[in-house]
Amino acid sequence: MSADILSRISGDDPVARLRSLREAVPGRIVFTTSFGIEDQAITHMIAEAGLDIHFATLDTGRLFDETREVWAETEDRYGIEVEAFRPDPDRLADYIDQWGMNGFYDAQDTRLLCCEIRKVEPLKRALAGAEAWITGLRADQSAGRNAVELASWDDARGLVKLAPIFDWSRERTAEFCAANAVPVNALHAKGYPSIGCAPCTRAVRPGEDERAGRWWWEGDDARECGLHLDEKGRLVPNRRAA
Ligand code: SF4
Repeated sequence: MSADILSRISGDDPVARLRSLREAVPGRIVFTTSFGIEDQAITHMIAEAGLDIHFATLDTGRLFDETREVWAETEDRYGIEVEAFRPDPDRLADYIDQWGMNGFYDAQDTRLLCCEIRKVEPLKRALAGAEAWITGLRADQSAGRNAVELASWDDARGLVKLAPIFDWSRERTAEFCAANAVPVNALHAKGYPSIGCAPCTRAVRPGEDERAGRWWWEGDDARECGLHLDEKGRLVPNRRAA
């Protein structure tokens, strides 16, 4: 499989895009969900369409109770299992010994190391053997994500990366979830548009960027955890498929 597979991925709506990916890619496809509203919309689409796509999540150990609640509700509602990938216990123990449980507040380096241990490395295991990776990225979520498009070839991981709702707005995503009674994280209604680990997420104020509540103590250019960054720390742009 190679990058030319992108030319076979298309569709005007997200379900058509997901179907075209499933038809174009013979092997394992993994959808990583963090149970945010975008991921919940995609979970609904995959489950209702009966597509052979594996559900996975990164259980960092610092999730909100509300996230765990919507996780259980989602599995129940759709009759699916979302496989959990957790941090390596030895690396985590070393981190806590050296930097403390909340060492991520001290410096960006220790924050990125925590994200590496709790998210980036487990993601590698979640994607092991996969030929495609589906995410809930939207282009208008933040300035840093405005290059996100439908599909890209992820050179580092050797797989296709699909963002089936890359061109949806927050409002459209919320309307879809409401119209289809999709379970959503209760924190969204409390001012949390983007939800990650509990100690690293706060509610946003009116007029703030959707991701302003993530790692708010860092600068505006630090709204990513490393899952979608290249080796230089830049967001990996998706290239539009034909
Ligand atoms: S979001 Fe915070 S708690 Fe979660 S992995 Fe990153 S630094 Fe650690």
